[in-house]
Parts: sequence; C-alpha cells; structure tokens
Amino acid sequence: MDRLYKLYRALAQQASLFTYLEGFGLICYHVLLTITVNMSYSVLAYYHLTPIADPHAEVSAQKDFLSPLDATSRIYVSEQGINGQMCAAEADAKSYMEWMLSRPEFRDVAFKIHPYHEQVFPRLTIKYRRQLVAFDQEVDMAARAQHLAPEQWKEMLEADDDHLLLDIRNDYEWKLGRFEGAEMPPCETSRDFESYAENLLSRVDPKTKPIMMYCTGGIRCEYYSSILKKKGFEKIYQLQGGVIGYGLKVGSDHWLGKLFVFDDRLSIPISEKKTTVVGECHFCKTASESYYNCANMDCNGLYLCCPDCLEKHAGCCQESCQSAPRLRPYHQQNPHKPFRRWHHYFAEKPSKNEQSGCESGSAA
Ligand SMILES: [Zn+2]
Ligand SMILES: [Zn+2]
Repeated sequence: MDRLYKLYRALAQQASLFTYLEGFGLICYHVLLTITVNMSYSVLAYYHLTPIADPHAEVSAQKDFLSPLDATSRIYVSEQGINGQMCAAEADAKSYMEWMLSRPEFRDVAFKIHPYHEQVFPRLTIKYRRQLVAFDQEVDMAARAQHLAPEQWKEMLEADDDHLLLDIRNDYEWKLGRFEGAEMPPCETSRDFESYAENLLSRVDPKTKPIMMYCTGGIRCEYYSSILKKKGFEKIYQLQGGVIGYGLKVGSDHWLGKLFVFDDRLSIPISEKKTTVVGECHFCKTASESYYNCANMDCNGLYLCCPDCLEKHAGCCQESCQSAPRLRPYHQQNPHKPFRRWHHYFAEKPSKNEQSGCESGSAA
C-alpha cells in the first residue's frame, strides 16, 4: 500500500491538483487500508527437527523460493533441522507452506499462523546456524521431554497442582506475560539452566515430581529438556507448539498478559480473550504492555512503558540516555516500531556496541 500511495502522490503532483487530491487521497488511502488490506499478511512460526544432510543447500533452496515473493523472515537451518519465523502476503505464505509440506523431509511441519496487516521483519533473512537455539553445549536430541498437545497441557494444569511449571524464556518475555503459577529459572545460557537443574535436585524428587516446561514456540524446550533428563528428572513434559500454539488451539485460559514476539509486533495477545495485565511501566509501575527500544542508540535497552512516561522521557529508558549524543528520532505514528540498524537514522558509523545490536531481538 505504501508503494501504491507513493504512485498516487506522484500522479497527483503531475496533475497540479496536489493539495486537494493529496488530502482526498490520504483519506481514501486510510479507508482502503482499514477496509481492504487489513489482515492481508500471514505471520508464520514453525520449526522442524529432522536431519538435514546439506544445510547450506537448504538455505539456498529457501532463498530461491522466497526471494521472488512478498516475504520477510528469520529462518535458520542447521544439520538438526529448521527454525523459521516469517511473514508473507497471504497467498505467498500459502504457497510457501504448500511447497514445504510437499517435500518429504518437511511434510510434518506444523505451521502456526497469525494474520497481520503488514510485514513484521525488516528483511528476508535465511541463514545457516550450527545450533537452532543458543545453546552452549552439545545436545542429545534423543533425550527430550514428552510433548503435550495444548489441550493436554490445559488438562494437566487443571488436574494436577503438584507439578512444577517452568517458563524457560527470557525475563523480558516473562515480564509481559506468563502462565499462572509459573517459575522462571534464571537461564540466560544453557549452563545457567544446568546449575538451576542441579539445585532443583535438592528441592524436588526427580523421579516423582512432574515438571511442565514451556517457551514461545516450543523449540527451546526441545533443547533445554535434555538438560533435565541428563540430571535424572523423569516426569518432564513440554508444551507442543509453545505458547503460540496454545493460544491458537486453546485460547488464553491460565495465561496472564501478552506474549513477547521477536518481530516488529513485539507484543501480541495469545488469543482474542482478554487476560489480566501483568506488565508494568518501567517508570511509574502502572499496567503496561508496550515494549520500546530506548531511543539512545548506544543503550537500546528494551523496556515496558506507558504512553505518558514514554513522552516524558522522550523514548529513553533513563535520564542519562536523554542527553546521549546519538538519539534515534521519536517515531510518533508508530513508537512501537523496534530498533532498526544505525544507517536508518545516521550517516556516520555507530559505536561498536550499537553495531552488534540486534533488531527486535533474535529468534527464540
Ligand atoms: Zn509510566
Ligand atoms: Zn537507555
């Protein structure tokens, strides 16, 4: 639609009726945007663990298929499988899913689909990665937890209150939303999780205590559950398809707040049903579910903020950031839009810190 509007603008200028036509055109543009193009994109989340003999060839195949389409993505391929998050025009998303499912190695891929009105990734990224999940040790893919379908997960949450519910995502994801009664182990790395599991042995009986673990889309549990197995825990369950799959199949029962996602949306409801807000403004502590990247590009901190505090602090996470030399312009129409690379805002090279900064997080 942006392209369409630019074309329209160019035509209107030519006709020297620019002022009137532009005003009229703008109205039409917004009406059209609201009525006709709402929800015309599909955001797909999926992963599939299957041996891939030549992951580099798979990266090329993915690029060949997706490049001509209206698609953006973060797709990672390794010898262990594929982990994909992508966004494409509805028809393009459909043909991508058909193509994937038509290939024997990917015929069981479970796609989780959310409609959206625009692209949610900055570009088409398809890369090789040694591990699909940041995991600083070798993983035994054969030693994984039992998968529970979202319906079974809900049943178990309701039937058995003796379980230990583990949220193995990052703390900024936890702050925005989580399952009722969940515990979040401090696990920035898999080594941290290993020491957590070690301590857990003194808290609960590894043979009898049911442990239910979940993450955003399910893939993190595939890796992290192997650590619990290795420590001798026997009754481990993981939520198949993660919170995204649960929201799509079951809804928001037992879920509080929203879900952090690693794309331009940053925060999404897991279903249409309203839930209790758990996120709070970093400054004034009022209920808040909007995440922002600090406008100081050398800080770029991710924080929850209410609209009043956002304006008061000019999009910065702390006072010292407000007087920083390189402040990203505050985007009034869409202050939620996450951080983009430095060249979107500045001509000169950024500091080392900012160069290595990611764009709206990395794949979970
Ligand atoms: Zn506030
Ligand atoms: Zn800051």
